[in-house]
Amino acid sequence: MAGLKAVSGNDAAYSAACLFDRIGEFLHAHRLDPDPGNYAFAYHLIAAPEGPLARAVAELTDGGVRLTRRDIESLGGTQSDEKSAGPAIVQRKTEGLVAQTQMQVEGFEDMVQAMRVEAQGFGRDLAESAAAIDRSRSDAGIGGAPMLDNVARITAGMLERVRVAETRLDAATREAAELRTKLEEARDNARRDPLTDLPNRRAFEEAFAAQTASGELICVAICDVDHFKSVNDRFGHAVGDRVLKAIAEALTQSCQGHLVARYGGEEFAILFTGISRGAARATLDHARSIVAAKRYRLRDSDEPLGAITISGGVTLAGTREDYATVYQRADALLYDAKSAGRNRICYDK
Ligand code: GH3
Ligand code: MG
Ligand code: MG
Repeated sequence: MAGLKAVSGNDAAYSAACLFDRIGEFLHAHRLDPDPGNYAFAYHLIAAPEGPLARAVAELTDGGVRLTRRDIESLGGTQSDEKSAGPAIVQRKTEGLVAQTQMQVEGFEDMVQAMRVEAQGFGRDLAESAAAIDRSRSDAGIGGAPMLDNVARITAGMLERVRVAETRLDAATREAAELRTKLEEARDNARRDPLTDLPNRRAFEEAFAAQTASGELICVAICDVDHFKSVNDRFGHAVGDRVLKAIAEALTQSCQGHLVARYGGEEFAILFTGISRGAARATLDHARSIVAAKRYRLRDSDEPLGAITISGGVTLAGTREDYATVYQRADALLYDAKSAGRNRICYDK
């Protein structure tokens, strides 16, 4: 199929360097929108040019026929799957792609670096040869000069080409490093809440899984801002956002050494590790009192917002207990704290 043959499955360097361009070319050639479904389809196709999907596409597009969205769906493309899949699945797939691309970029970076070193070595050898030829030319006198002139010219040409290649490899190395940084940022962003800059629910759940595997003592706390709706209603959403940021900071400060995450909305979660349930509860209760003691005021008018408080539930995770069970217990304790009047922490005894 046009535009795909040049990519060989064994040629990791080429596919890593050109993957993005090739996908773009493919989508453009087939007038397909660059939506995640089409992108993933093109990615699978280009990543495995000898695979069954590529063969099926080659058959369909023989003679320059364009692929349609329906063709993609009939070929089992990801588009139709993703329409029915939940956002979490789509996100996981996207993350899979990011991780895969990151690995390719890292491989590409290593390869380019190795090529650069080789090109530098070759360039040095050539420069030495050129100098040796020059010396021979002056020693050889008139008779030997024409042949040596020719060799000198060829060597100089090769030297120039190596220098050009080195410059290009330098640029490619820089581009690969930039791309790697961007991919790392993308992966990090997927686990970070943009408002508070705290880890998000996903990062929290992953951390729980990792800690469970390590066998350490774990307590999970869920906190919720009391009557937060009324803050938004009285002072506006932007003020509400600033309050959330302030609470995030207070919790992070008070629970240092433990993972504080924004779980969603006006809920925060804390993963206490390596401390007893009593210590976790005491730490959380101290955090609660710090939040309650703050005097929040409007920036412009200095008008007080009134007391802002949080309630929380904290529970000890049993060994091999699954996350959902532990979370539900912490959430039920949070509910108890709300029912008991708010601005308090409940814990399992
Ligand atoms: P309770 O004490 O029972 O928790 O009462 P509440 O008012 O805090 O609870 P409710 O669930 O009724 O309201 C939560 C509010 O939090 C509603 C929603 O608009 C607000 N909220 C959620 N996320 C954000 C956010 O990112 N920014 C702002 N400003 N408000 C948010
Ligand atoms: Mg809530
Ligand atoms: Mg609330």
